[in-house]
Amino acid sequence: MNQLFTGWECTAEDCKKSWSGQKNGQLFKCAFCGIKFQPGDTVRSVYTNNLKSGTYKGNPLVCKSCDNETIIETWKAKCDSIYSENNWFLNERR
Ligand SMILES: [Zn+2]
Repeated sequence: MNQLFTGWECTAEDCKKSWSGQKNGQLFKCAFCGIKFQPGDTVRSVYTNNLKSGTYKGNPLVCKSCDNETIIETWKAKCDSIYSENNWFLNERR
């Protein structure tokens, strides 16, 4: 596991990097509460590449207050809800 998956204290530089394909730190946010990370915040990337479904990929970033031992379950539930039948209009191009 590299630093991304064990968590690190982010720097001002991290906050300006490209994250999730958006420049200048626009998406340098917690995927669970939406808070934008500030220098000094503890950030961790949740490792999801080992999950079977393609739906769960993305290695979401999580803040210190949202992170817990069931975060992967939370992520799965979140993805299931986003990609549910009820949201076909968002997902028809998948
Ligand atoms: Zn959070």
